[in-house]
Amino acid sequence: MENGGKKIKKISLYECGYCENNLELILKNEKRKIIKFPALCVLFEHKKFGNILFDTGYSNLIYENGIISKIYNFFNKTTFEESDLIVNKLKDKKINKIIISHAHPDHIGALRYFDNYELITTKEVFHTLEQPKLKNLVFRNMIPDKFLKVKILKEKTKDKILSKYFKEIYDVLGDKSILGIRLDGHSNGQLGLYIPEYKILFATDSSWGKDLNNKIEKMKLIPRLIQNDYNKYIKNIKLLEKLKKDYKDIKIIYSHEKQKEKIYE
Ligand SMILES: [Zn+2]
Repeated sequence: MENGGKKIKKISLYECGYCENNLELILKNEKRKIIKFPALCVLFEHKKFGNILFDTGYSNLIYENGIISKIYNFFNKTTFEESDLIVNKLKDKKINKIIISHAHPDHIGALRYFDNYELITTKEVFHTLEQPKLKNLVFRNMIPDKFLKVKILKEKTKDKILSKYFKEIYDVLGDKSILGIRLDGHSNGQLGLYIPEYKILFATDSSWGKDLNNKIEKMKLIPRLIQNDYNKYIKNIKLLEKLKKDYKDIKIIYSHEKQKEKIYE
């Protein structure tokens, strides 16, 4: 069968803008080192459901939210150009579904640039989109006026690998091609994705990146307070590290790791 009979024929990774942070301000006992954190978007080309986007990256709206933008950019220097906009990278591809991991500006930045799609996320993330609050780090100017079609993931499923580590697994499309994993800690109800056909787990903002996982307990107070629940944050990093050790063939990708734009097929 074509493409080994896969339901998802292609996965493309895009970087849509980035922010910079100083490692010295994030972790204890670190020297000044500026790290770039690109904003990841993933496109799944599904044979039955068409183009599905996971997160939307930054957009110019990051600069257009008044004083909030100024404060955000002061702590999180953001670089974004027109060519970074996911809509421009996708050319004319029609997007049928958008899955949102959580409502932070580097994940929902370009949501307003799409129409006629089905939004898929968890109940908690949808709630933060419907009632944007600064304390949840949600930029009001990024929220579309209306969500026409919404699918809230609630019915739990089981997976022979994931269920060993995580309690809440969802069958996102109903065909087991994309499994949702509830990864609380960074943001309430945060949604990660696992693609069994490709053995890739998109762990979104469960961590800043695998290189920092062994130092994460040295997180300073301010970045600690930015996490929705620091204990759950640490717990999920440990579970992801355990999974990586037990299943070496599974690739874990965090949203803000430095990586080249890539295609899996
Ligand atoms: Zn985030």
